[in-house]
Amino acid sequence: MGQPFHAKWRYKDVRELQAARITEAVKDMCIEANYRLSPDMLKVFSDGVRNEESPLGCQVLKQLEENLKIADEDRIPICQDTGMAVVFIKAGQEVHITGGSITSAVNEGVRQGYEEGYLRKSVVGDPIERINTKDNTPAVIHYELVEGDKVEITVAPKGFGSENMSRVFMLKPADGLEGVKNAILTAVKDAGPNACPPMVIGVGIGGTFEKCAQMAKHALTRNIEEKPEKKWVRELEEEMLKKINSLGIGPGGLGGRITALAVNVETFATHIAGLPVAVNICCHVNRHAHRVI
Ligand code: SF4
Repeated sequence: MGQPFHAKWRYKDVRELQAARITEAVKDMCIEANYRLSPDMLKVFSDGVRNEESPLGCQVLKQLEENLKIADEDRIPICQDTGMAVVFIKAGQEVHITGGSITSAVNEGVRQGYEEGYLRKSVVGDPIERINTKDNTPAVIHYELVEGDKVEITVAPKGFGSENMSRVFMLKPADGLEGVKNAILTAVKDAGPNACPPMVIGVGIGGTFEKCAQMAKHALTRNIEEKPEKKWVRELEEEMLKKINSLGIGPGGLGGRITALAVNVETFATHIAGLPVAVNICCHVNRHAHRVI
């Protein structure tokens, strides 16, 4: 007689990972992301200072760059809005988390990180009652089960000046690529100075209503120097960056060329009857930290 499924599974090589290690990693990443931008963000920032033609825009970019330097050296938050913690987790299906649930471990990491890092607690427990949870929990957590025995964690604290300017467009298939371009430009134009430019634009194209929004958020965490595989997506990113930087919004919304530092696009299969597009706008404080444990 064959073994029951669960008995066979028990004898497989499963890696044990203590929940406390996830807590520790999330805590460190909340602090790190709020004190220091990733090297690719720093690079596009200094490129922006070089390329800005407006003297006022250039002055704003230099001040923002100086602010980034001070935050890193003095270990203080880059912005007073230290964001709602968005956490992407790719959990290897050969990992067994011990000593507590993964969701509790992540939220404990956020709690500790926001406390120890002196980060502003910006989360209310209910959207209408609006009482501050006083520890910046709960985090918004997106899980994905993947092959392997590792857990990959990305923490992306999201400021709401720019989050509030983000949009979902349920286009028709006939709207095509031109419709997608118009949607991106509409969202950026409507955001104007409210999204604390220069912005980073995350775009999700395809999937369903919620899938495109999730892709747009995830796109913000992509290393700006890494380019998408599909040619049309690479070309779309380049064209949109040029067009956005011709809108004249400029750094701080005070006019100039550098309205956006990057446009990152993710795509997915979709239904024959639809063309969902989400535009998740991020300010210049495009924070994300990454660990594999
Ligand atoms: S949108 Fe960004 S720069 Fe503006 S206040 Fe929020 S975190 Fe700070």
